[in-house]
Amino acid sequence: MNIAAFLHATARCFPNAPALAFGDELIHRYAGLQERVARLAGGLRALPGVKPGDRIALAMKNSPQYIELMWAGWHAGLCIVPMNAKLHPKEFAFILENCGVGYCFATPDLTGALADELRGSAAGTRIIDSEGAEYRALAASVPIAQQPVLPDEPAWLFYTSGTTGRPKGATLTHRSLLAMTLRYYADVDSVGTGDCMIHCAPLSHASGLYSLPHIAKGSQQIIPASQGFDPPELFSLLERYSSATFFTAPTMVTRLVNDPGVGRARIDSIRTMFYGGAPMYVENLKSALATFGPRLWQGYGQGETPNTITCMSKAMHVDDGHPRFEQRLASVGVARSGVEVRLVGEDGRDVPVGEIGEIICRSDVTMAGYWNNPQATANALRDGWLWTGDMGAFDEDGFLTLKDRSKDVIISGGSNIYPREVEEVLLQHAGVLEVSVVGRHHHDWGEEVIAFVVAKPGQAVNDHELDQLCLDNIARFKRPKQYVHIDELPKNSYGKVLKTELRTRLPRD
Ligand code: AMP
Repeated sequence: MNIAAFLHATARCFPNAPALAFGDELIHRYAGLQERVARLAGGLRALPGVKPGDRIALAMKNSPQYIELMWAGWHAGLCIVPMNAKLHPKEFAFILENCGVGYCFATPDLTGALADELRGSAAGTRIIDSEGAEYRALAASVPIAQQPVLPDEPAWLFYTSGTTGRPKGATLTHRSLLAMTLRYYADVDSVGTGDCMIHCAPLSHASGLYSLPHIAKGSQQIIPASQGFDPPELFSLLERYSSATFFTAPTMVTRLVNDPGVGRARIDSIRTMFYGGAPMYVENLKSALATFGPRLWQGYGQGETPNTITCMSKAMHVDDGHPRFEQRLASVGVARSGVEVRLVGEDGRDVPVGEIGEIICRSDVTMAGYWNNPQATANALRDGWLWTGDMGAFDEDGFLTLKDRSKDVIISGGSNIYPREVEEVLLQHAGVLEVSVVGRHHHDWGEEVIAFVVAKPGQAVNDHELDQLCLDNIARFKRPKQYVHIDELPKNSYGKVLKTELRTRLPRD
């Protein structure tokens, strides 16, 4: 099935339900959105050189046109290549060339830099301004019928965030997105016309994919007027819209908790607040629970298996009578419906409960492979199992605790040290805002532990106190040998801490 069928069905069932808003302004009801999508699809297919299955790229900030283009692309039988709007022009150019994109839609803030970068490049991509006359003309084309596609045809070519090297294009098919959409109702919520999704996180990532189960049931999509994440704006949208769901990275949750406006915010307008994509430390999660109550839902996953492999449901977040509640809060929950999850050693054999292994998973949502990269595909997908590169341990109830990516594990004197464990302890210090732990080469021990620490504004954090916290909570050998105080941690465009960059900033011993 072409996943564009979801919008078609919603428009038929709920033609007058509000579909898409920009801030307070309603842009389309569902019948209007479907009409616009069918016209835009007609325009896309009439562009010179465009054939079924071709890829169109989006270098766009969040905007109503983003949603229109996603659905128009699918309606037209094309594959969408979402790109984070914060990428460098060179990174855009790499992706466009890597997957041979003929047309790239860009918000006006990006068109100039993209055109400059692509001048003379082999990609031959044409840039179309998503707010320009050409776009308006495309959206006024003669509508076409939804094009047939096979379930295994690519729908969403998601380039991984590249914390370790060149991004790779995880190819997600219509089958993956269909499975992802249906699993939402099994593991998150039911959805209806009274609900909405606020896209304060990039549509190019999880927020965009979560719009599918919402659009499939007639929930309204809200694009904040700032086109991004701004806590006061989000709080004001919660005054206007109720039963709202939105996606956040853990750092965004912490910003919301610390925002001075949170005390007056309409928390009861929040239906579900997803977080994931990076570690949520227990101390931060406890503050978030105290602020937002039973509205938090955690997902652990990868671009290769949207949206997640495991989840911690809203109910699990507040099950404080459970004897292992604290431990569970430090976990990423249990396997999603229809996803098999195993933990294996290097030999591919399952490790016993409680022991650490690499997380591998198998399900219909998993990518078909990396675009044009058979070697990386063979490495990641083995006999249908996706090797995530993440390490974790199960408890006897099937709750999975992450233990950092295998490449981030520090091996000192032959013992494995999981940075997350040390980071959790250091974050207990009241003056610490953020922390990241990496290994530095040591001639005797192999590696030693170094902590990069960011203090809260106006607070001083002293090394002796940090050391004492470690001595009180973890084995001596896990204690950082040095604390490096910095103003902020380097992060990529999705807010993930770049340990690779921190390693280049390591002071010499
Ligand atoms: P991406 O494909 O860019 O979404 O990055 C996926 C990686 O982010 C995973 O392999 C994990 O290392 C990390 N990650 C995702 N979700 C979580 C989570 N809930 N907690 C900790 N790390 C996470």
